[in-house]
Amino acid sequence: MRWGWVLVVAIAAAVIWSRSRDPAPRSVVVATPVVSATVAVVPPPLVVAEPVTDVGRFADPFCGSPDEPSRFADQKLSAAASRDPRIGAAFGAVEQARASHDLAAERRAWASALRLAPDEPMLALRYALSASASPEFASAAAALGNYLAKVPGDIVAARLRSRLEVQVSIQEDFERIDRDSIMLAFPRELDFDATNTLLATLDRSLDDAARLTGSPRRRELYAVVYRDQSELMAVTCMPAWAGGVFDGALRLTMDKIAEKTIRHEIMHAQIGARKVPFWFGEGLAQYFESTEPMQWHSFSSLMLENQAYIPFASLVENFAVFTESHDAALAYTQSEAMLRMLVERDGEGGITRALRLAETGTPPEALARVLGLEEGDLLAFLAREKVRR
Ligand SMILES: [Zn+2]
Repeated sequence: MRWGWVLVVAIAAAVIWSRSRDPAPRSVVVATPVVSATVAVVPPPLVVAEPVTDVGRFADPFCGSPDEPSRFADQKLSAAASRDPRIGAAFGAVEQARASHDLAAERRAWASALRLAPDEPMLALRYALSASASPEFASAAAALGNYLAKVPGDIVAARLRSRLEVQVSIQEDFERIDRDSIMLAFPRELDFDATNTLLATLDRSLDDAARLTGSPRRRELYAVVYRDQSELMAVTCMPAWAGGVFDGALRLTMDKIAEKTIRHEIMHAQIGARKVPFWFGEGLAQYFESTEPMQWHSFSSLMLENQAYIPFASLVENFAVFTESHDAALAYTQSEAMLRMLVERDGEGGITRALRLAETGTPPEALARVLGLEEGDLLAFLAREKVRR
């Protein structure tokens, strides 16, 4: 995560540096991937014409500085519990549910294991994690309370429980409508028409996302509309510039319900737990937002002018660590360009193929290479894209 940040600082620094000196003769301008490790200072922010308003999916849904632990304490079943065949059967059900991306079934399996052995911290934690981004978030908070009574040192779990408790209090008087596998929670202030329009958009977008990716439609979607950004930030710890998020649940705010944001987050929801690189997930989510051409940021021109790009290998990890929109904008811009390079060459079938590769074991860091996407082609693609505009 921190490498990604350093890298974008590096490319920003490189772009600024390159712009502040006299233009180099064309003959010495070469396509140069920016190397990240040498920049130690944070340059002044670049001005981005259209700030990215959405951070998207979090690889791990916890707050805290990068110096703090980001993993839950390791938990193992007691010897007695691991000998219990009923718990073994529940574990089998978990595996089966995961294989078919059936989140509700996974939650039920963990819950049944926990009922069999309520004193097992590992089972309390697993149930809580499976339920924390679902309508059962209050039960998840309670399970985490039991877990923390036995494992008080797990600060990551403690943080998650605090956020879930805030969520319980914020959503205390929320309404809920369940329709077509979508469970929508929203404040009473959201009027009837807006609620219906939102449900229809979510439903249609899920259908579209399933079609584009050639994958079965997500079975269950928990969507929550908050009153404002402060409520959203209180339950997600997302950066202040993010306008919507998918962290297992799709979370929006009343004042910013835009179809583009919804479609973007729905694509993240459709991809779900599949292991895809950042560039593919974010590139695809942006591609799916609308039928408009590629979003052209000032960065796109700067990349062309300076013949600079982010090495593909540095666009594998999640970039949610950014706190400033201009840092993330670079990574998002290039991700969309990479996805569109794929579609330009292979059509939308390239998307289905990429996802199938990811599902059948192609590791995220190898996907661009296996798909035959070359760093050397990126700038040529951007040049063609610029002409098309
Ligand atoms: Zn996103």
